[in-house]
Amino acid sequence: MFIAFEGLDGSGSSTQSRLLAEKLETNGHAVLLTKEPTGDTQTGKMIRDILQHKWKCGSESLQLLFSADRAEHLKNKIEPAIQNGQIVITDRYFFSTIAYGSLAVDDWGWLKCLSKKFRLPDITFLFKLAPEICIQRIQGRGSDFELFEENEKLGKIWKGYEKLTNEYDNIQIVDATQKIEDIEKYIWSVVKSRI
Ligand code: ADP
Repeated sequence: MFIAFEGLDGSGSSTQSRLLAEKLETNGHAVLLTKEPTGDTQTGKMIRDILQHKWKCGSESLQLLFSADRAEHLKNKIEPAIQNGQIVITDRYFFSTIAYGSLAVDDWGWLKCLSKKFRLPDITFLFKLAPEICIQRIQGRGSDFELFEENEKLGKIWKGYEKLTNEYDNIQIVDATQKIEDIEKYIWSVVKSRI
């Protein structure tokens, strides 16, 4: 089984992907918890450096790097783990690339086309949370932002995620305004019914 967690930065996907991995392990399942961009491959490192403004590249190049990183991630980690009977959980996958990428690249079809060959998750949990709350949570994490600009950007990115819900299957929208424990219970109820 292959499960993806997606949503705006600060919406709580990392927290819940970790909790789900722990819950599954406690219940005797073998789990691979992973994330994108990967960070442990050359391509992943390049992406992280670009996101941290250590060097610049064009928007299209960045999308291609995300796709290259994903192709390696699937081939070397995700697919072998699935073949091995593990439940694979990824914190972010191609929905995030498309939704975030659509801010800078004005060609939805091209962005989607880059992910055409990639395995679709059996379940995608999409965390729904207003941009201003995401920003508050991220600020709690110690980053600073141009508030207004960021709010508007995140709103556009969320529109991209919403569009994807009409274009792909197996998506569960999570009301991320709830308490951590309540979201955890909801996610567990969905996963439990599928394993
Ligand atoms: P993401 O991975 O989507 O960027 P995180 O899981 O890192 O988000 O969460 C961002 C911040 O919000 C963290 O400080 C986390 O502890 C907090 N957080 C996560 N889920 C909730 C929630 N349901 N309610 C309140 N705070 C939350």
